[in-house]
Amino acid sequence: MTEYQITKIEQHLHNKLEQEYAATVAHLSGFHIGGESFGGLDLSLQFTFNQQMAAKLRRVEQALERVRQGLYGRCERCGTPIWERLEVLPYAELCIDCQRKTERNLYPRPYS
Ligand SMILES: [Zn+2]
Repeated sequence: MTEYQITKIEQHLHNKLEQEYAATVAHLSGFHIGGESFGGLDLSLQFTFNQQMAAKLRRVEQALERVRQGLYGRCERCGTPIWERLEVLPYAELCIDCQRKTERNLYPRPYS
């Protein structure tokens, strides 16, 4: 991977993070339109927001680490190229198949 490509990926990651930051702010501030805030809501929203952004920031940092190690662009689990997926979600770690398997394991259906 060339320096130019690495710079592009870094920009893409940062842009994505900024977009999501703005989208999350817009989403959360929507709760306040046309009314007073309810007791305790502000703090819990703020908390949710911080948690979400911290989690995303961690994933972006991990993605940048993979870029530096030359591992970026492939599924962390099976090695399948995931460039198309990265266009949409630049900090994705897994291909769709592995992602689905992971989600099934993380959220098993209660009665199956
Ligand atoms: Zn995979």
